[in-house]
Amino acid sequence: MEIDFNKNTDGLVPAIIQDARTKNVLMLGYMNDEALHKTQESGKVTFYSRTKNRLWTKGEESGNFLHVIDIKNDCDNDTLLISVQPAGPTCHTGSDTCWNEKNNTNFGFFTELENTIAQRRESGLEDTSYVASLFQKGINKIAQKVGEEAVETVIEAMDNNDDLFLYESADLLFHYLILLQAKGFGLKDIETELMKRKK
Ligand code: AMP
Ligand code: ZN
Ligand code: ZN
Ligand code: ZN
Repeated sequence: MEIDFNKNTDGLVPAIIQDARTKNVLMLGYMNDEALHKTQESGKVTFYSRTKNRLWTKGEESGNFLHVIDIKNDCDNDTLLISVQPAGPTCHTGSDTCWNEKNNTNFGFFTELENTIAQRRESGLEDTSYVASLFQKGINKIAQKVGEEAVETVIEAMDNNDDLFLYESADLLFHYLILLQAKGFGLKDIETELMKRKK
């Protein structure tokens, strides 16, 4: 790997550590040439610690190693992006990340929608909120709605109307998210199940 170790100060380049699965940034450290080589050879992220003034394999005391999945060099060879599988919490404070965040999977807008559904469920706004009223009617009603939207999606898939197909697909996914929550699950549980099947 061609790294410009002279561009930055003291032969060090920053290494951004990113969780390979969740894509969250876990921490940032610095590497010199030797640290990068050790990282590549051992498969465990090793920094040059400016505090300890020596090579530091993250996890050497705690056991919370960062197992290397992929190493990327940036556009001008002065910053590393290292994709890892963390063996435990990354920060020495015990937090998942060095910015005191949980290393949860984030499905973007779908996670926002899951949170909104959870809020509506607790809101007691059955008169004004469709989602709240569905939860009040109970699991059988919710499951039935998913069935209806699934049938509508199938019908539109067979018809040649992309607009209606997308519309019904959105209805289906929305109601399915509600059903998942009513059963005490979320998208992350589906992700876990599907990842178990990955060959
Ligand atoms: P570890 O490498 O996890 O065995 O931790 C050894 C020591 O390194 C800790 O006692 C801290 O001083 C330091 N340390 C561990 N993790 C971090 C981190 N994410 N950021 C900065 N310092 C850390
Ligand atoms: Zn750069
Ligand atoms: Zn930290
Ligand atoms: Zn529909």
